[in-house]
Amino acid sequence: MRYLSSKEVRSRRIESWPFSPLDAFDRARTILRDLGLANANQQMGQRWPIGCVALEITQRCNLDCTLCYLSENSEAVKDIPLDELFLRIDSIFKSYGPNTDVQVTGGEPTLRDRKELLAIVRRIRSLGMRATLMTNGIRVSRKLLEQLAESGLADVAFHVDTTQQRRGYATEAALNILRERYVNMVAGLPLSVMFNTTVHDGNFDEIPSVVSFFRSRASDIRTVSFQLQADIGRGVQRARGLVITPDTVAAQIEKGAGTPITFSASLIGHPSCSRYGMCLAANGNLHDGFDDPAFVATMQSATAALAFDRTQPTATARRLLVWLVRHPALWTRVLSWVARKGWKMRNDILAGGAHVRTLSFIIHNFMDAAQLEEDRISACTFKVATSEGPVSMCLHNARRDAFILKPVRIYRAGSPSYWNPTSGTETTEFVEPVEPSQVGVVQKGRRKRRTNERSARKSYAPT
Ligand code: SF4
Repeated sequence: MRYLSSKEVRSRRIESWPFSPLDAFDRARTILRDLGLANANQQMGQRWPIGCVALEITQRCNLDCTLCYLSENSEAVKDIPLDELFLRIDSIFKSYGPNTDVQVTGGEPTLRDRKELLAIVRRIRSLGMRATLMTNGIRVSRKLLEQLAESGLADVAFHVDTTQQRRGYATEAALNILRERYVNMVAGLPLSVMFNTTVHDGNFDEIPSVVSFFRSRASDIRTVSFQLQADIGRGVQRARGLVITPDTVAAQIEKGAGTPITFSASLIGHPSCSRYGMCLAANGNLHDGFDDPAFVATMQSATAALAFDRTQPTATARRLLVWLVRHPALWTRVLSWVARKGWKMRNDILAGGAHVRTLSFIIHNFMDAAQLEEDRISACTFKVATSEGPVSMCLHNARRDAFILKPVRIYRAGSPSYWNPTSGTETTEFVEPVEPSQVGVVQKGRRKRRTNERSARKSYAPT
């Protein structure tokens, strides 16, 4: 394992967009093979060439999280033109193909003009890709969710945790009321619900109770993701304490889930970056869905080309069944797995009226900006779409200003123009990138408050 030096972080070459999904698969397989990480349990390079691509549609946010990955200059950056975003969406599609997961994110994406937000989701869907809205939920209404669902949104991921310092919600337990409200707001819409929780020194002990809440609403929530505290961006909380590791967070999740969870059967990219577990939920109880890693590996490889649509579980189950009928060699293994699971879960299946759903757990271990591991950056499965190409989210966060302050060349019919990110204007002549020192920084409230307090202390100090 080797860390990138700060010079290497600044100068690391940006990967070009893959020429085609075949090229993307080829790149993913090559890097995993070179790192000794290619195996049958690995989803990357088998099912997909990339876990997901983040499309940052604004740098603005209406919160000021203590672990925010944005830059101090983000608030000064205007919303990037729609033409450029469409171009990036088209590049994602050409590179990774249909069914690619595209995270519509920011900043807070709902701050973007509503018509434009809907147009972005429509564009992603029209190409057969899956759009996920990554939101803190503050500006989300039932009406907006209906419009997004009509536009083709697949998932809505609510980020709720104590790093956001929402007034009146001092603990994770208090935030469950808000989580509940968000889940109810989506009820009945064809959207899959996800929750993101940042695990930090202040809420580590509360993770089991948060998971317990997710477990109680497992019929309405599909995926919950826990992101580990990382020293990046404009957040003030900085590096995590020693207690927070992927292993300890996995143990906390298992405590709340009330069952052991196998996080090593289905891999998503580098094992130091992500862990993925899937539980079967029935009658308010969870059961480990991946407790037979050899079976998971067989099925993952065999079904690699089958598309699973999270928003249409019945259609997906039917497709899987049809596929299984055509593969008699797997019947014995599948039937014995179903029989074993069914027997183990029999009481919950009977008591729950045979309603069985899935609840997936993801642990994402972002890296500190000053400690980027070269191998993980190379095998990154979570990239940000930029005008130059896809960039590892960790690398992007470590040099965010270089990306967001760079003028963007806009391609329209006629002569090209250059969009200036801090003025939002377009000129026909090339403009130099804006230096962070030139930005009239719009500090977030927390920083402003601290700056004001400091200057107040200075002015009242005895001379
Ligand atoms: S390099 Fe960073 S963004 Fe990429 S998968 Fe690893 S932790 Fe995630």
